[in-house]
Amino acid sequence: MTDCLVDTFQMALRHFDVLNPRFFLPPVCLRVESCDKLRALIERQRSEFILHVAAGTSERIEALWADAVRDEPFTAGIGVPFSVKPEQMAYNSLVWLFLHEFQHIELNHFDLLGDFQISETPNTPAFGIARRADRQLGPMLRLPAEMRAETPRCFELQADHDAADLLLEAYSTEGWEDLRCKITAISGMMMLIERADAKYNEASLTHPKAATRIFQLLGHVTEMPLIRAQLKAKQTGAKAVDPDDIPSADEIQAFGRAVTLPCFFDAVNLARVVEADTIRADLGDPADFFQDIATAKLAASDQLSQLKTSGAREWAKLVLINDRLKPFQAGQ
Ligand SMILES: [Zn+2]
Repeated sequence: MTDCLVDTFQMALRHFDVLNPRFFLPPVCLRVESCDKLRALIERQRSEFILHVAAGTSERIEALWADAVRDEPFTAGIGVPFSVKPEQMAYNSLVWLFLHEFQHIELNHFDLLGDFQISETPNTPAFGIARRADRQLGPMLRLPAEMRAETPRCFELQADHDAADLLLEAYSTEGWEDLRCKITAISGMMMLIERADAKYNEASLTHPKAATRIFQLLGHVTEMPLIRAQLKAKQTGAKAVDPDDIPSADEIQAFGRAVTLPCFFDAVNLARVVEADTIRADLGDPADFFQDIATAKLAASDQLSQLKTSGAREWAKLVLINDRLKPFQAGQ
């Protein structure tokens, strides 16, 4: 089990370096802790980082995918069958978790929070370290109180987004099944984190809900065919995207039918597999979920009150705070 964590960690480091050459990642070393729970915590020690991961983390991930592939509705995929190898799903879930940790470093969350550790799961013991002296007064403490409380959850969404962007890579007309595997592997990891969160810290969840994280993820997926055109327009200073850079309407619809929509139902099925009725309820009805994604894309704050699903509503609350954090982060 330790070998699996170490090997996957090395692959994630390589993936991060290759796809993100503009950022020089400081040294990060992995420490596998003997604990059978799902736990991950990243700690800064001067100029390097230590990623503590409980051995139980990979066991829980492997158990999730072993259960999922035995579940007939999951593999039937509501009209679009989903044949997956549990080892590949477990690998993708774990790589995404590691990329998420590296993003906390790249996005400078440690300085902003003024903290020396960021935990992915609640009540994670500090693995024997309790060095309050390392805690500094981060710039975040100067934020208005209502923003301060929500900042850690905004940072989780930031790390989620950039880690997904790295794992899913740029849009292509090929490899849609593999893309579906990666997206659903990320959804599964988000659910495992929520289950750990709900189990140990019911009174105050430390992370956004899994449905909120999946809402952001699938919102990103629906945008994927357009991202290249949007980036080009931004780089050239054009007011609008060039229609020639956008895939045809038929292609975008085919992508929705083959990837985005099946990934929503995969998430719904997975919620049942992990016996998480609350996640299922938070995702909401498919028509409402995709209507909420369309509403969210308009990016008009006056429309956000119309959001129907629970995940979309939490996303909207956090995204408004995140917008206020951006200039602050740019000044770092
Ligand atoms: Zn995190």
